[in-house]
Amino acid sequence: MIKICPSCSRIDERMLATKLSNEEIELGCIDHCGESAGKSFGLVNGILVVAEDEEAFVLEVLTRK
Ligand SMILES: [Zn+2]
Repeated sequence: MIKICPSCSRIDERMLATKLSNEEIELGCIDHCGESAGKSFGLVNGILVVAEDEEAFVLEVLTRK
């Protein structure tokens, strides 16, 4: 399960849903907003993953499986 914040994760949820179509994607604030400014981040199975951009985030998610 991936959770991203629609206002501060810097990840487009439609892009994520397209690239990771097998993943359940939840939207909501993840309590790390402001900490990782300028990066793309989200919770992957409850663990915070921070990447340089959304493409890098997708790669991170795929390598963690
Ligand atoms: Zn937020």
